[in-house]
Amino acid sequence: MSAVTTRAIVLRTVDVGETDRIVHLLTPDLGRVAAMAKSARKSRKRFPGTLDLLNHLDVELALRPRRMAHIGRARLRTAYLDIRADPTRFAVACRLVELLGRMAPEGGAGGDAQRLYEFASASLDKIEALAPDAKLRLFLQLESLCALGLRPELRACVRCGEELEGGDAFLFNLGDGGAHCGSCRRAASAHGGEGGEGPTVPVHLGTLRALEQGLRIGLEQLHRLAMGPRETREAEQLVGRFQRFHVGLELRSDAFLSEAFAAAPRTA
Ligand SMILES: [Zn+2]
Repeated sequence: MSAVTTRAIVLRTVDVGETDRIVHLLTPDLGRVAAMAKSARKSRKRFPGTLDLLNHLDVELALRPRRMAHIGRARLRTAYLDIRADPTRFAVACRLVELLGRMAPEGGAGGDAQRLYEFASASLDKIEALAPDAKLRLFLQLESLCALGLRPELRACVRCGEELEGGDAFLFNLGDGGAHCGSCRRAASAHGGEGGEGPTVPVHLGTLRALEQGLRIGLEQLHRLAMGPRETREAEQLVGRFQRFHVGLELRSDAFLSEAFAAAPRTA
């Protein structure tokens, strides 16, 4: 058994039995870790309100070969009170941690774990600080997918690498992670539809450019990004279907997120 102290973000909690809790953590050194907190719901001394969803902690972990880690002690760094006080912020943050809880690799993959942890920590800080509008929701979702290694190609044809141009809608191929240009599409249909397999989403060049620009400028600068109704609609559909295709299931927080935004006054 070895003991480590690490920073961690709580991605998910599952209560077990009368008093125990399994906590899924994202850490900079160990990646995603599931750890058992014995008597978590009884011991206010070892866990004074710390082992809750979204909390940013310092934890002592006892690592045991081929068995679940144990949490020895936990100290709260940040509870993100402004996120908890606002249903739309909370919903955006819940999707972030649910996505990371499903997709972040287990075990410390060196720099990858560190990078993902820093992404999550910085994103929670931004959700707390920024207006939780539709653009923030969209670009945080896209940034999360990119951080998990699922970066869609937004500029070039995924077949031939030529830069996409033209005013007609492209078909974004979800499996290929990008659109096919006009000549690749014509060549494919001349060969009996080869290369056109798999689900696609229609998308205009302006939408791809807006997504690319939003990623480049970052969440803090999104107010500078102009998106019309068509771009917004196409972008939300594209990113949503891209996520479902690659994550392989509907996230529980997606429905909650739609409800929170439908109930909130429009801030965009
Ligand atoms: Zn092409």
